[in-house]
Parts: sequence; structure tokens; C-alpha cells
Amino acid sequence: MKEKREIYRFLHVTPRRIFEQLDQYVIGQKHAKEVLAIAAYNHLKRIEYLKFGGEVSIRKSNILMMGPSGCGKTYLARTLARILDVPFAYNDATAFTEAGYYGEDVEVAIGRLLYATNQNVSSAENGIVFIDEIDKIARRSGGARTGAGARDIGGEGVQQALLKILEGEKIFVPLNVTAHWNKYDYVEIDISNILFICAGSFSDMNEQPDGNPIGFFNEGTQGPHEVSTEDLTRYGFLPELLGRLPVRVQLDALTANDLVTILTQPREAMVPEYQRLCALDQIQLDFSQEALLEIANAALRQKLGARALRAILEKVLHPILFVAPERAGERIVIEPHDVHRALSAVVQ
Ligand code: ADP
Repeated sequence: MKEKREIYRFLHVTPRRIFEQLDQYVIGQKHAKEVLAIAAYNHLKRIEYLKFGGEVSIRKSNILMMGPSGCGKTYLARTLARILDVPFAYNDATAFTEAGYYGEDVEVAIGRLLYATNQNVSSAENGIVFIDEIDKIARRSGGARTGAGARDIGGEGVQQALLKILEGEKIFVPLNVTAHWNKYDYVEIDISNILFICAGSFSDMNEQPDGNPIGFFNEGTQGPHEVSTEDLTRYGFLPELLGRLPVRVQLDALTANDLVTILTQPREAMVPEYQRLCALDQIQLDFSQEALLEIANAALRQKLGARALRAILEKVLHPILFVAPERAGERIVIEPHDVHRALSAVVQ
């Protein structure tokens, strides 16, 4: 036992340290940051344990993230990869098809990782594969759901294919996924230490056949409902797939105040970025608090979460960015009416 503890001393990270680093970039989502920090730490421990000849198997900590669009799911995963200094590959589950059909085989997800590392196999073998829109490959059983997007067989086939990579060991991967790769350019990759993070908005979870709303969209005083394995099976996921995504986390919708903080505070915040841009033209750019709140509310109306912020900010700052070099030496303060003007111009 003592020896095992020795192993972990080589890990300079702790869940708390991972959390603190995520915290510098990602606003809110405290619980998700903690869950991710623990999962990442356990993942590293598992790798060390196996490297030092550990025999009893420790399951992988693959993660399922559920939360509305633009609340930071991709950003969290991407930031985690950066903190751990491992490669990251983004994938859209809706592009995947069963082997043999027109579309992407799931192996392409690993190919992307390899591409991100410039074909460095050993680096790719420790990477993070992110699979977005996982809710869109739920099995749609006829009639029970709205009926519109009935892709039953396809969805289930992709889930079956994913099963193989989530806890797989060695697979052959196309070498260069972005170029027109020919069938023979494959390389063998050990995927047993690749961490998979799947994410989805599950925005139609409310529309369960029995009419019982579940998930984070539950409004009212009882707080968000914890999505269970049973809920997810009912939603259309194979129990085997859920078994390979043991770490589940629900993210919160961002509030207007969160969005204001996102605009101004974190390491990669947009307002300081535009301020730096303007400072290069000798302009001091400022935003009134009310203007920031207007921008946040406009983003909320678009239901795209933080994802809408940059486009809104671009529109609001358009008139200033156009004349910036001519207004050198000035201080410009963005007020709510500037936001209104910019956004109503779009509607017309
Ligand atoms: P999704 O939840 O749909 O995956 P993203 O993570 O892609 O959303 O968010 C889009 C962008 O919005 C991110 O690149 C980031 O700039 C910003 N963002 C989203 N959520 C947060 C957050 N909680 N804290 C800081 N920035 C965020």
C-alpha cells in the first residue's frame, strides 16, 4: 500500500489544483469543475498505476456532460486538456455513422487527436477526445418521441461503434483525417489511456413520453433533478454505453450576471481583449455596467449562452472599430443605447 502511495507523489497535480486552474477560465459551473478535476486526477492516477504494474483494473473515468448550449461544456473540456498539457480533439457525434455507411467512422475521432499532435502517436495516446451532440445519437423509438427526427437505427449503430472505442485498447486509425486519406494510411494506436468526454444539451428531455420533465430544465423550487441512468436509457442510450460513461455531470444555464463576468473577468475575457485592441489605436475603451448587462441579456434572448457574446460585442463595437485610428487619444464609453442601436440595426 505504501508503495502505491509513493507512485502518486509523482503526480504534481491534485483535484484542487486542477479546479483552481479551470476556475481562472471558466465562470460558474463549480460542481462541474470539481467533477472534472476529480475525474482528470483519477485518470492520471490510473495511468500511473498501470505504468507501475498495477494489476487490479481501475475503470476509466470517461465523462458525460449535460447542459444547455453555450454554458461551457466544450470550453471546460478544452481548458482541461490545456491544463493537463495533453492533445484535444473535438468531434460532432452527428457526423458519425456506422462502419460502412457514408460519413465518418468513429475511429476518425482518434485520427483527429493524432492530427492535433502532428502524428505523434505517444502524445495522442494520452489525449482527450471530446464528442459533442451526444444526445443526437440517442435511439429514437418510433412514435414515442415527437417522431420528427427518427434516426433509430443510425443512432444505435453509432452508439455500438462508440462502445468499442470508449474502453478499447488498440485500434487502427487513419493517419491524416483532414486530407483526402487513402485507405491504406493507417497506424495502430493504443487508446486505453485516452479520456473521452461526451456532451449534449438534452434540450428535449422535457418531452418524455410520460410528460415528466427531467433534467436541468426543471424550473421551480425543488432545484434541478438529477438525471439518472434510467432517465438516460429512457432517452435512448444503450445501457452498455452509459456504463462506459461513469462520470456524469450536469451544468447550469448561465445567468446574466455570469455572462457579465465572462465578458470582463476570466483569463480570456473578451472586454479586455477589445480594450487592448483599441489601446493600440490610443483609444481608452470602457463599458458602463448597464451596457454590459444589456449585452448579457441580448445573449440570453438568443438562447446561445456565452456563445452569442462575441458576435454581439462585434456588432456593438463595429462603429468604433471602423473609425478607431481616427479617434486616437479619446476615451470611449459604451452605454446601453449603443447596445440597443447596434442590435436593433440587425433586426431591420
Ligand atoms: P457548450 O456548452 O455549448 O459546449 P462552449 O463551451 O462551446 O459551449 O461555449 C462557447 C464559448 O463561450 C466558449 O468558447 C467560451 O468562450 C464561452 N463560455 C461558455 N461558457 C463559459 C463559462 N462558464 N465561463 C467562461 N466562458 C464561457
